[in-house]
Amino acid sequence: MCQDEGMQSLREAEREAGLESIATEIVAEVQAWSKAHPEAKWEELEEAVLKARQRFGERVLERLVAEREATRPVVGPRCSQCGAELQYKGQKTRYVVSSLGETTITRRYYHCANCKEGVFPLDESLGLIARRPWSPRLQRLTSKLVARLPYAEAVEVLAEVGGIRVSPSSSWRIGQTWGQRLQAELASEEAEQRAAGAAGTPGGSPGWGNDVPLE
Ligand SMILES: [Zn+2]
Repeated sequence: MCQDEGMQSLREAEREAGLESIATEIVAEVQAWSKAHPEAKWEELEEAVLKARQRFGERVLERLVAEREATRPVVGPRCSQCGAELQYKGQKTRYVVSSLGETTITRRYYHCANCKEGVFPLDESLGLIARRPWSPRLQRLTSKLVARLPYAEAVEVLAEVGGIRVSPSSSWRIGQTWGQRLQAELASEEAEQRAAGAAGTPGGSPGWGNDVPLE
């Protein structure tokens, strides 16, 4: 094994240890909570585990994004408008609200002196939208809900089902931004269902309420 390969596998091992330590820590937290609440009902246990799952998701996501940022090439990227080499302006932090919870990411910021434009290459490579805290998936989920429910109710469903905190005003903004795109998706979904015709369940709401009864 050459030295580079040795370093590579060492980094892999460190990375795996890091991710495993997140899992170990969170499992220990849940166990400690359970021991401290021996009379907890299913409802409370379910909530404690859901919260733990959310913390796990947030931290794993944070770690994976930090690794991406750490391994990006150091050479300054070029401006997509004018082609000039971008100037490195230090790191900036942002929040991403996603279906996994709230994540803080730190990434390099560049500036084009010609175009007077700022660029976050990591955000672009991840497909994150500038000046909006929400992940693409969260925006899709929210826009689907606000197309069917009043904003306040959509926000409640997101919180209860996914532990996702989105304010009614944010859900409104997401609905406005994604509304047209969603309308088109819904129309084609409905057309497909009409085409499926008699095979479908009469009056059933699409994709929802398909729970299989136990008996
Ligand atoms: Zn430029």
